[in-house]
Amino acid sequence: MNFAVHYAEIGLKGRNRPRFESRLRKNITRALARAGSVQVRNLYGRLLVEISDDVDPEYAASCLSKVFGVAYFSRATEIAPSLEAIEAAVDEFVSQREFESFGVKVRRVEKSYPWKSVELATRLGSRIQSASGARVNLSKPDLWVELHLLSQRVLLLHRRQPGPGGMPVGSAGRVVSLISGGIDSPASSYRMLKRGCELIYVHFHSAPFTNEASQEKVRDLVGILARYQGPVRLYSVPFGEIQQVLVSEAPADPRIVLYRRMMVRIAEQIALRERALALVTGESVAQVSSQTLANLDTINRAATLPILRPLVGMDKAEIIELAEQIGTYEISIEPDEDCCSYLMPRNPATRTHAEHIERLERAFDVSGMVEAALGRAQRERIDPAT
Ligand code: ATP
Ligand code: MG
Repeated sequence: MNFAVHYAEIGLKGRNRPRFESRLRKNITRALARAGSVQVRNLYGRLLVEISDDVDPEYAASCLSKVFGVAYFSRATEIAPSLEAIEAAVDEFVSQREFESFGVKVRRVEKSYPWKSVELATRLGSRIQSASGARVNLSKPDLWVELHLLSQRVLLLHRRQPGPGGMPVGSAGRVVSLISGGIDSPASSYRMLKRGCELIYVHFHSAPFTNEASQEKVRDLVGILARYQGPVRLYSVPFGEIQQVLVSEAPADPRIVLYRRMMVRIAEQIALRERALALVTGESVAQVSSQTLANLDTINRAATLPILRPLVGMDKAEIIELAEQIGTYEISIEPDEDCCSYLMPRNPATRTHAEHIERLERAFDVSGMVEAALGRAQRERIDPAT
């Protein structure tokens, strides 16, 4: 069984195009490899994916619909490059479908064919019309009959199915995503995957002071996100002791910013080890009282790597819609004991200043706390959820 896969944005990448294409080929192969044997080849600005016939076409389509970089795809019947073969294939294709209107599209990718695109389209059009009685409609027909004439073969494309768009995962470098069990951080991770980043996940938990529900939740969430990337690494970092130190030694109001700065420092060390180039969070401006521009600035100053916040300008309702689409919302709303609900202040500070926070932090052995947490971090591999 064949699929023709079309890509949008990566087609525009000029001299980088071969690199993007080869990444997309690899990702498609990996996404489908569990289903059966796969071969992916470049075919003039599109890819031809050949899958062994034992694979369920619906399953193959659902895999392709999760490979970033795919704009749209369709099943494709391969035909020998002769008029008789084309007519026979079109007859069969048409006889298996119900439609009242149809259109024929012919693209002559290889120019050496003896017929012009329009000639062939007209010829096939009258043939289909007399066999089916349907009328021609070239704007929005019930059925498109689309032929691509390539060298030594012709493809008959079936119904177009949308891909997820974006860039192939791995084409844009590696980032470390701070993932909580909440709604936002899985959505922000998804947005970075879509831009072609390869993600490594870091989760902070307060076990044994809280139960382990948040860790289980995060594994489930990462499993869903791994559908777009393949098996991924998740670091679980114990954070309860750090919280206890901060709670006993620092005032309550700026506590969340102090927590976040410690998280960012620890995540940055993991990023450096993993050769990642940025951190990612699910923060958006003004969503909760701790996410003010002043606080985001204070948090940024604890890191040297850039902190990417793909949700920064989104409303909560928009984020929820995205989380529902990707299937993380249902998991995120399950109750848990997140480390941030542990030892939360009643009135989080909304306008922290870096100098003030840095002065508070001088009372602690910040780098010792970072090292200790890193030493107790656990790394595991999470496979894509089925
Ligand atoms: P989320 O829905 O992602 O939890 P939120 O709106 O609840 O976000 P906060 O709890 O303030 O906002 O967290 C802001 C960001 O900090 C999160 O999006 C996430 O990137 C990071 N973060 C918060 N808690 C954790 C945690 N326990 N482990 C890892 N990262 C975290
Ligand atoms: Mg949260």
